[in-house]
Amino acid sequence: MEQLNEISKPKSYIGRKVPLLKNQPEVPSTSKIQQAVMKTEKGYKCFRCGNEDQRYFYSHPCAWCHSECTYCRKCINMGKMTTCTKLVVNEEDVILKEPISALAWSGELSPQQKEASNQVVSAIKNETNLLLWAVCGAGKTEMLFQGIETALQQGKNVCIATPRVDVVIELVHRFRQAFPTISIVALYGGSEEKWDGHRIVITTVHQLMSFRRAFHLLVIDEVDAFPYNIEKHLHWVANEARTVKGSTIQLTATPSVKQQQLALKGKIPNAMVPARFHRQPLPVPRFQWIGNWRNYMKKHEALPPALTNWITSHLPSKCPIFLFVPTIKESSLIEEYVRKLTPLTASVHSEDPERHEKVASFRKGEILVLVTTTILERGVTIVNSQIAVLGADEEIFTESALVQIAGRAGRHPQFAKGDVIYFHHGKSEEMVKARNQILLMNKLGFEKGWLDSK
Ligand SMILES: [Zn+2]
Ligand SMILES: [Zn+2]
Repeated sequence: MEQLNEISKPKSYIGRKVPLLKNQPEVPSTSKIQQAVMKTEKGYKCFRCGNEDQRYFYSHPCAWCHSECTYCRKCINMGKMTTCTKLVVNEEDVILKEPISALAWSGELSPQQKEASNQVVSAIKNETNLLLWAVCGAGKTEMLFQGIETALQQGKNVCIATPRVDVVIELVHRFRQAFPTISIVALYGGSEEKWDGHRIVITTVHQLMSFRRAFHLLVIDEVDAFPYNIEKHLHWVANEARTVKGSTIQLTATPSVKQQQLALKGKIPNAMVPARFHRQPLPVPRFQWIGNWRNYMKKHEALPPALTNWITSHLPSKCPIFLFVPTIKESSLIEEYVRKLTPLTASVHSEDPERHEKVASFRKGEILVLVTTTILERGVTIVNSQIAVLGADEEIFTESALVQIAGRAGRHPQFAKGDVIYFHHGKSEEMVKARNQILLMNKLGFEKGWLDSK
């Protein structure tokens, strides 16, 4: 019965299984019921998650339909979708709602933020797409506020999606402050909240599978982050969630190589913000050769001298030090060696249940050196932090990861400089590309007059 209620609501909510009945229940005139997994020219396709990779489809004799049934393993954690499962799907764009004004944010935008904000507003008015390329620490959330207010005034439904759960949580907090009079829902795996016609939805891209033709404005924050950068089916999901007419605004500090080229040549509509709001250039990473540091550590049970010297040079000033390392496995061993220099050391990685507490202690100055994997490459702002990457030439440290890591330094106006050093055993192409990207942003920032002279 519950499932029947679900589809009798005239909402743009899809991705719901409907029971197999002799007489199919009625769906709103703008929706239809369709098979969840269907055979196409390329093989099977899952119409909830967009997966077309045949390795994720399995067949088995089905007790429901009494025949051989194929199901999708790509999205199975959201409930099993098979060739005999039906989905409620919106066919038509959701209609415009009542116009509202809700923006209560009274902060001031820097000239470079203002210019980007205006471009966001006109993209929304003209129903075009936009890539917003803003360096780490540019203040990109504020650049969205006016655009979202414009969309609400036009009666549009707004969604801000991101690949990362921690970004959802952070954004919800900031949007609830900026738009205090309207209800905003946060959707992610494990969230207690449910969508019920909210005008602003903040969600992981995964949860977009539950929507179709539902949002006139879709913002995708951290568009280059995992898994959105790799999982192409999520691009299909995002496309389907937006209305046919509307705007998709993609936000990133580190676009893919292809997007960078298209943006720099002006081949895609884009807004570039190469300068931080505090008008100081991005700290440029230094490269330092450190030899075979793994062998050294094994032999001496200590950090290589170059890294020891770098850490001890920063310890007296008591500034927080990030030490990025390539693997989870090595992080605790490296922590042990750093501990010989200062007891105020900790390490974190994605599987560490105390991760949030440790980052909080680091913020408070109770921990001076935080050994971390790429898990903290983005999203974390620690005032006056100094940054080292050990094994910067290893595969995990892509151009985008290295730019994001360097972007942790110098974010605060009073501590706008910061030391960023990549320790390597033979510099990689990605390291060079990362440094070039940072140098290019600084150059553009100066040319635009958005940075104070050196
Ligand atoms: Zn699927
Ligand atoms: Zn079946």
